[in-house]
Amino acid sequence: MMLTIVTYHYVRDLPRTRFPEIRGLATGRFEGQLDYLTKHYTFCHPDEVLAAVRGETVLPPNGCLLTFDDGLCDHYTTVFPRLEERGIPAVFFPAARPIRERTMLEVHMIHFVLASVPDPRRLVAETLNLVDQHRATHALPDRATLFRVCGAANRFDTLEVSFLKRLLQRELPALVRRDICRVLFQRHVTADLTSFAAELYMDLAQLRCLARNGMAIGGHGDVHDWLELLGPSEQREEIRQTLSLLESVAGQRPANWIMGYPYGSYSKVTLDLLREAGCAVGLTSETGLVSDLVRPLELRRLDTNDLPFAADAPVSEWTNRARGTVEVGAGQAG
Ligand SMILES: [Zn+2]
Repeated sequence: MMLTIVTYHYVRDLPRTRFPEIRGLATGRFEGQLDYLTKHYTFCHPDEVLAAVRGETVLPPNGCLLTFDDGLCDHYTTVFPRLEERGIPAVFFPAARPIRERTMLEVHMIHFVLASVPDPRRLVAETLNLVDQHRATHALPDRATLFRVCGAANRFDTLEVSFLKRLLQRELPALVRRDICRVLFQRHVTADLTSFAAELYMDLAQLRCLARNGMAIGGHGDVHDWLELLGPSEQREEIRQTLSLLESVAGQRPANWIMGYPYGSYSKVTLDLLREAGCAVGLTSETGLVSDLVRPLELRRLDTNDLPFAADAPVSEWTNRARGTVEVGAGQAG
């Protein structure tokens, strides 16, 4: 078997939205990628993957599972009709709190701030000034240390953007992160967080509608935090709220469910807690294909940007690997 799991976040008609600069996938490119995947892969239903993990079925040689993270309205309005039209199954990973309380997650506040401020260097300076305001009450690293710890570019972002994400999504203490994200969001995007959240995230009825129509709903934590950085009791609470959301969607206690780790972050403690909670499959953000199901709680994924966006695009290296025409492990990616 060779399973390709693809990750999506924002999928929207970008030029005709209020935030054309948001880092997302335009609808036309999404449709093109669905056509490409239809041509080269066999789509798997999440239940098939779960059954394969239990040893009850065997996945097709060149299977593909689509995954949509963060419970965005995009997934209901743009993604769902296009999947339904083509008969393609998928799994959706909403974080629990925005569904329950209609509040913004910090991870998304940062995205919309970045999409609203044209010069990321200005935003870095502004953010560091906000960090300084917290120094009296929190022991925070000096600027040089922050640059050293958060300074590495990732494979999708510029240095400034990856610095801001790392700083505001991970490195600062949670209370400081939360406060700075809120200030920046209110300054640059809107002061009305509740309406923005209601426009951004699906609600429970929409999730139920997806589930009724053959889609799977998986867990994505409560507040979209780095699970590996949380203590066991905090992780337990994240998983408790995750289960509670899945139960609200399905109308019964979930068994054999799928977790998508927020930021791809988990620890050994996470895996133990998830097994206890009946989670059978976990999806990481490690880039790669799934060639066996020996460690089902640590499956790799590709990002949508790793694959072409048109049916007639040249066959990508990842597709060749999935078909077995290129040996897996060849090249630098894996
Ligand atoms: Zn996420």
